[in-house]
Amino acid sequence: MIPYGKHFIDEDDVRAVARVLQSGTLTQGPAVDALEAAISSYVGSKYAVAVSSCTAGLHLAAVVAGVKPGSTLVTSPITFVASANAGLYTGGRVEFIDIDPATINMSPNCLERVLSESSGIRAVVPVHFAGLACDMAVIGALAENADAMVIEDAAHALGARYADGRMVGCCAHSTMTVFSLHPVKAIAAGEGGVITTNDEYVYRKLLRLRSHGINKLDDPFLDLEASTSNGTVNPWYYEMQELGFHYRITDIQCALALSQLGKIEAFIARRRELVDRYDRAFANMAQCRPAQKSGRDESGHHLYVLRIDFAMLGKSRLEFMQDLRLGGVGTQVHYIPVPAHPHYRRLGHSPDAFPDSKEYYEQALSLPLFYDLTDNQQAQVISAVAELVT
Ligand SMILES: *Cc1c(COP(=O)(O)O)cnc(C)c1O
Repeated sequence: MIPYGKHFIDEDDVRAVARVLQSGTLTQGPAVDALEAAISSYVGSKYAVAVSSCTAGLHLAAVVAGVKPGSTLVTSPITFVASANAGLYTGGRVEFIDIDPATINMSPNCLERVLSESSGIRAVVPVHFAGLACDMAVIGALAENADAMVIEDAAHALGARYADGRMVGCCAHSTMTVFSLHPVKAIAAGEGGVITTNDEYVYRKLLRLRSHGINKLDDPFLDLEASTSNGTVNPWYYEMQELGFHYRITDIQCALALSQLGKIEAFIARRRELVDRYDRAFANMAQCRPAQKSGRDESGHHLYVLRIDFAMLGKSRLEFMQDLRLGGVGTQVHYIPVPAHPHYRRLGHSPDAFPDSKEYYEQALSLPLFYDLTDNQQAQVISAVAELVT
């Protein structure tokens, strides 16, 4: 069975992890700093903070943005639940806005409307769906006007570029960008996430929040009397200055991610080659088309999503997936609209309010796309699909 996605590990990766295991430092050591430096240099941000997952990073980002009871985080319905959950963790509200069906990213028009109609929106979370960057200049300007912070959910987009050629994560039009290091994403750490920012205040706050809210770097102590004796700083002293979390990542994970980062250009080049071949193969097939067409040279190509008109085809998505499975081809659906989940329905949300997201969801199917998918395997996928749509 060819899976829809998977990671790729080589001997260098194995050696990098083994070196950490023999180094005496499993966590809070040099590999964390090294990964942060490498990511910020790769994407062109001033700072990077590595955390235990992208979900943890989105949570911290929502805290920094000031989402709390009585305020709101806005995101797209077509994303993994984590983008929205970040708002709920803080006690805030989540509001969804529909997608642009041409990109599957949040619609800037819908964002403009919600920002003018609702008050108390503290965070806007655009998701670079399948690695295709959102129009950040427009989103950034709209959010700034409304005094909301922009947090890019770039779980799909490490290594991707914006339309202007800059790297996703440089934070030119956002305060923070959050990446995932889950094995199905661009590079693997096992589990992990990285937040990038250009703002020193935000950087220092993220460092504290990642580790219980305890002072970091040269943060001044708040309690001068307790922190010193006769003018000398007490060597045992530390201060929890705000309520933080334990969202640290280990050196084992960072060493793997760092080794993987060295291969990211090759990973993405191969994905782009595969996408190009899929695009050409499906260009003339009836009842199916790629969900995204623009930004093919800039996308991180996390997913290859086909839109299939199952109603016109007279075959349900379940039958379609089962037939592909019999042909050795695994597929998946990205994503069930977040407002359709029972938890979000209980909070009063419904996917019916987002017609473009709903129609997309009814038609979406992700085909296998990963670095070591062979040409022969891809040909097998294409002919298995062709047999069903023609
Ligand atoms: C995978 C994913 C996340 C969560 O990433 P983790 O590292 O697993 O926490 C968040 N948002 C999107 C869009 C994702 O695809």
